[in-house]
Amino acid sequence: MSRKKELTHDDVKKMVASYMNGEHVALVEKAYHFAAVAHANQVRKSGEPYIIHPIQVAGILANLRMDPETVCAGYMHDIVEDTGAALDDIKELFGPTIALIVDGDTKISKIHYKSNKEQMAETHRKLLLAMSKDIRVMIVKLADRLHNMRTLQHLRPDKQRRISNETLEIYAPIADRLGISTIKWELEDLSLRYLNPQQYYRIVHLMNSRRDQRVNYINVAIEKVKAVIGDLDLGGNVEIYGRPKHIYSVYRKMVTQHKQFSEIYDLLAIRVVVDSIRDCYAVLGAIHTSWKPMPGRFKDYIAMPKANGYQSLHTTVIGPEGRPLEIQIRTHKMHEVAEFGVAAHWAYKEGKTNGVDQTSRDSKKLNVVKEILELRQESNGTDEFMQGVQSDIFADKVYAFTPKGDAIEMPKGAGPLDMAYQIHTEVGNHTTGAKVNGRIVPLNYEIKNGDIVDILTSSSSAGPSRDWLDLVSTRRARNKIRQFFRLHNREENIEAGLRMIENLLRDHGFNSSDFLTAKQEAKVAQQMHYNTAEDLFAAIGFGDVPPLGVVNRFTADIRKQQKADRQRQAEKELLEEHKTLDQQSEKKRLTTSNDGIIVEGVDNLLTRLSHCCSPIPGDDIVGYITKGRGVSVHRRDCPNVKASEQSGQRLVSVYWANPQGDKTNYDADIEVQGYNRNGLLSDVVRTVNNKTRYLNSINGKVDHNRMVTISLTVGVRNLNHLQLIEAALKNLADVYVVKRVIH
Ligand code: MN
Repeated sequence: MSRKKELTHDDVKKMVASYMNGEHVALVEKAYHFAAVAHANQVRKSGEPYIIHPIQVAGILANLRMDPETVCAGYMHDIVEDTGAALDDIKELFGPTIALIVDGDTKISKIHYKSNKEQMAETHRKLLLAMSKDIRVMIVKLADRLHNMRTLQHLRPDKQRRISNETLEIYAPIADRLGISTIKWELEDLSLRYLNPQQYYRIVHLMNSRRDQRVNYINVAIEKVKAVIGDLDLGGNVEIYGRPKHIYSVYRKMVTQHKQFSEIYDLLAIRVVVDSIRDCYAVLGAIHTSWKPMPGRFKDYIAMPKANGYQSLHTTVIGPEGRPLEIQIRTHKMHEVAEFGVAAHWAYKEGKTNGVDQTSRDSKKLNVVKEILELRQESNGTDEFMQGVQSDIFADKVYAFTPKGDAIEMPKGAGPLDMAYQIHTEVGNHTTGAKVNGRIVPLNYEIKNGDIVDILTSSSSAGPSRDWLDLVSTRRARNKIRQFFRLHNREENIEAGLRMIENLLRDHGFNSSDFLTAKQEAKVAQQMHYNTAEDLFAAIGFGDVPPLGVVNRFTADIRKQQKADRQRQAEKELLEEHKTLDQQSEKKRLTTSNDGIIVEGVDNLLTRLSHCCSPIPGDDIVGYITKGRGVSVHRRDCPNVKASEQSGQRLVSVYWANPQGDKTNYDADIEVQGYNRNGLLSDVVRTVNNKTRYLNSINGKVDHNRMVTISLTVGVRNLNHLQLIEAALKNLADVYVVKRVIH
């Protein structure tokens, strides 16, 4: 990794002046001077003046073309912690937004990462809280971390490893989740350099030794791609270039996919960046026409963007010289999002003043969410993106607040009772209800990130109710509720347990008094390792033993008996059925082929189901006698029948021996027309496979409007069966027409 050139404040100023107006450049200038004074007498571990660090951080942010608030916060992010300069000063001089970002970063820097599980959860919780106030807190933090990683060589080896670990486990995933891939890659590469220097330098060496060869290959491929898409009428600006491979991603693939360096590195990867979505698909079409796409490698992230907003078309084709060639196709706007992610949405926009008051901060925050959602072409509520960010980074946790502002961490799916028991057992036991964000909610409410949950309690409440066991999702709450019942009112438990068993027996159609005799109760209790039946019922009553299992033990004998009876009955019915079949066989004898067709008045005549309309049992059918090939059977509405009739062929009445069909499967040809979205074909296949085991052939044809016609031959038992399949296909999204075909 080449050493990045160190920036001066003048460099940063030039960078921001290239995209900000004068007023904003002045604000950035002011932040620099404020920071320079505050850090005046400090030096870094490297011995350099401290201010060099904030200048580099501001430079990274300016390089992302971030707004003035973010760049200012970059300059001042270390001031409060390191120099004691009051946050109030920043608030007064720079406004509440910048103060809030600086404050958030100060708080993050106080988090001491330890790599055990509880500490990780705590770290995540704090990061979440800092970030949820303003996502720019995290963007500044990532820039801070990036510069610290670039200068890590000045620290002791143990610190280098600790910080690299933290970067790889926490900050790189956050950068990824926020879609800021430029920062993510560099953080990963730098972390690997300190965590596994041997592998890191080995890969660097291998890359260098093959660079020329790779560049040559890529240049050849680029020329070929240019030729292939040359005839397209592409608007404006088209860029085609080789995609860089990152050291860490090569390393990870070698480790996780057990691949050789050459398998990963020598795979050619090219990116085509165009002006419009229409052009993306046009390029894709041209490439797929010229080279054979590799099956299963096409991904349409334009129609289905990734959760972090990423959009592109991905495909791998057998390219020039028969080598696999990975191609990404995207618009310039998609490219910006792919590289800078969330940061792209905070980038400075000409003509838009970035307000510094509270209301515009909030609306700006909502705006990011909105823009990302628009990118994803979904609009399931404005909080979704943050929810997505949070739930992915913070796995299966939700964080809610008490009215006093204490954060409570719970597993996802937790409700007010879980939270109540998390706060204190007594709070749980005396809960009477809950308010979320000021509104009364039912106790089965599922807590969402950031909810303010007010648990309502009453000292006179009678304690938990039994159905709470169904409302809680945490083990802690469930145990506490059971404990309550165990300790309190044993009599009630016995009573409740007994009642549950009685009810269940009745639900299953049994007469409870037949089973609940002292003798049987004692036997079941003993089987389940309880001393007495009362102990068993008490355990059921307080929820330790699921009642169904107990009922099954009571009814085990009778159910065995019933099963044997049913078996006998079924055998008897089968026997009867055979008899009936035998009686019908007289009629069946007339059937002259496996087709199950009876020709009126004729015996032993060969029949043939025509392939033009493929009749199936239940279809209205007609036959005509062909020369030497017996009776050709058609659907009555088949145009070929009319034609044959007119040409003088003799029609005969035919009918199905069994209009419901028998075990045989008959081929039916159907055609599905729809919009060729990603996954349509597999939806069709899945739907058919759900209904029949016989999908005998399938063919798809796409026209230039992305309409697809899928022809299927399926094996069905009868007309009803076919209609079920047709109905299921019609239910698929983007399917417009489903019909039977006559050839
Ligand atoms: Mn810093």
